[in-house]
Amino acid sequence: MATGKIGVTTENIFPVIKKFLYSDHEIFLRELVSNAIDATQKLKTLSAFGDFKGELGTLDVRVSIDKEAGTLTVSDRGIGMDAADIDKYINQIAFSGAEEFLAKYKDTANSIIGHFGLGFYSAFMVSEKVVIRSLSYKEGAKAVEWTCDGSPEYEMKEIDKADRGTEIILFIDNDSKEFLEQARIDTLLKKYCRFLPVPVISGKEQEWKDGKYVDSDKDKIVNATEPLWTKKPADLTDEDYLRFYHELMPGQEDPMFWIHLNVDYPFTLTGILYFPKIKSNIDLQRNRIQLYCNQVYVTDQVEGVVPEFMMLMQGVIDSPDIPLNVSRSYLQADSQVKKISSYISKKVAEKLDKMFTSDRKAYEQKWDDIEVFIVYGMLTDEKFYDSAKKFFLLKNSQGEYFTLDEYRKLTESSQTDKSGELICLYATDKTSQFSYIEAAREKGYDVLIMDGQLDQHLVGLLESKLEKTRFVRVDSDIPERLIAKEDQTETGLTPFETEIASSLFRSRIPHDDNAQFIVSFENVPGSSDPATIVQNEYMRRMKDMASMQPGGGFYAQLPDNYSLVVNTAQKAVRSVIDKAVEELRPDVEPDFEEIENLNKEITSLREKKESTDDEKNKISENEKKVADLRAGNEKKIAEYASTQPVVLQIIDLALLRANLLKGEAMKQFIARSIQLL
Ligand code: ADP
Repeated sequence: MATGKIGVTTENIFPVIKKFLYSDHEIFLRELVSNAIDATQKLKTLSAFGDFKGELGTLDVRVSIDKEAGTLTVSDRGIGMDAADIDKYINQIAFSGAEEFLAKYKDTANSIIGHFGLGFYSAFMVSEKVVIRSLSYKEGAKAVEWTCDGSPEYEMKEIDKADRGTEIILFIDNDSKEFLEQARIDTLLKKYCRFLPVPVISGKEQEWKDGKYVDSDKDKIVNATEPLWTKKPADLTDEDYLRFYHELMPGQEDPMFWIHLNVDYPFTLTGILYFPKIKSNIDLQRNRIQLYCNQVYVTDQVEGVVPEFMMLMQGVIDSPDIPLNVSRSYLQADSQVKKISSYISKKVAEKLDKMFTSDRKAYEQKWDDIEVFIVYGMLTDEKFYDSAKKFFLLKNSQGEYFTLDEYRKLTESSQTDKSGELICLYATDKTSQFSYIEAAREKGYDVLIMDGQLDQHLVGLLESKLEKTRFVRVDSDIPERLIAKEDQTETGLTPFETEIASSLFRSRIPHDDNAQFIVSFENVPGSSDPATIVQNEYMRRMKDMASMQPGGGFYAQLPDNYSLVVNTAQKAVRSVIDKAVEELRPDVEPDFEEIENLNKEITSLREKKESTDDEKNKISENEKKVADLRAGNEKKIAEYASTQPVVLQIIDLALLRANLLKGEAMKQFIARSIQLL
């Protein structure tokens, strides 16, 4: 019997492993089963090349529990190890500066293991003693047994072992008794070993006997050794893909379509990605792509590993180039992984392009469901944007679809404003903005529907990418001004008339803490609309954007800002203003004139470079007078306005069209309408 010291530079690597790996300690099983699979695969390779001439026999890997002995054993019939192998692979933990390394990586313990060949040692996370019993495939090899109780000392001796291969026996420690439960082991095997390429046997199949389930004689195989992604796409039917999808993602609806990835250059990668139907925002936030390395499950935390927009997809990616045992931050920084990510993004773009060009009708029918993937991709991946330009579609209010180029051609002649900018009009809600959409269409404009979850961001992106193009929501101005073709026209009101008319309408606008209105006048002879409510595009976007941020911020707190744009060319408006001016003039004009004079005085005093205290006092005195006179006038006009139901009727009609007339206000509107009849 030989004893020796394991070749690590730090005396106490085991406590370190135990401590830092506590949260992840279940991965020991993946490590041991993966080693067993590797050893089996190696033997198959040797046999295929004629370097191993013996019988292969069955090559199952077994995971068995002996509750009485308190052991969990992983055994294989792979290449095995002789004493020299154990010395080389197990005793010499081949890295220098272990201490320094552990200090650096102490919070990403997963990366210590595996990346530096410590996979086997993870067994000590759950064991007080580990025994290896192994017989190498080499001719004349002697079987050996290696025992270690977690201290750096081990024992090694020759033993009798008839069967080729390795048994790793874990004497499970008191804190880890859960790993002696078949159910717990089953769960872990299901998680990590579900698609391993060699049959893994653990426990027995259950059978129904005497009113309960009991173990049968049949071994239970826990994995599917040839998962779908390892097969040739040409050999598979849609049913195969759907069946596999439902196995992988139980309880989900059928996906829309899928991509089977299959490359061997410049790296090896296989996988199947499914495009699920995204129905709500919650669906946007799930990791549902599983990463495998040679059929060994690595992680489903794929953030930073696959392109961000692919987080919306589901399925599996398998590449031997994905490091099995490293932390996520390590994965993200890995240059090979980065290449994989951009490759997948390219493949997805190719697939979509092909769908678009080969059957545009069918593609359009899918568009509403796939839009979110494509928009997400365009927003987060520059390269994807460049390929998506060809197959990204805009949808208009008539349900027609256009590529970006097509849409420019369609609208260029009618929707270019006086500065040469193409104005794309859009609506975010076809129903509530219906009358605005119709008004714009009557002017010969096309209106896009932008009601997708990410469309607000998309609008910003397209504006930054497309030359001389701006997006304007249909209700952000009156139809005549949505696309400014010529310089603004006169309102047709004198300053005095404007003063009266402003106060007249302002005084009747409903008070609401969440909405603020300003009144403006516009002379639109072609329009029969007395007044329109519009919402400034810029302010609305700031608010919308802010409300999507957690916490909201300053902009989200602001009330909505609307303008009531009154059409002075409209008959009813004109007569209500004229009448008001006529009736109010005697009462209001003197004050108005005084305000004018005071303001003139203020302006000229302000223009002086230096002013005396007297002059400063005069300014504030005048300002106060102006404010008082204004308030007085406002009050008179408001009193008058309250006797003119038509004013409120005009405002309410505009509110109604903007979907802002609700509850009590709506009730009064109806009552007033009946009265006016
Ligand atoms: P890694 O698997 O990352 O190389 P491990 O610590 O898990 O690191 O294993 C070290 C080495 O021990 C393996 O590379 C392999 O050569 C050998 N080994 C481990 N388990 C077995 C096994 N079941 N059969 C044969 N060799 C094994």
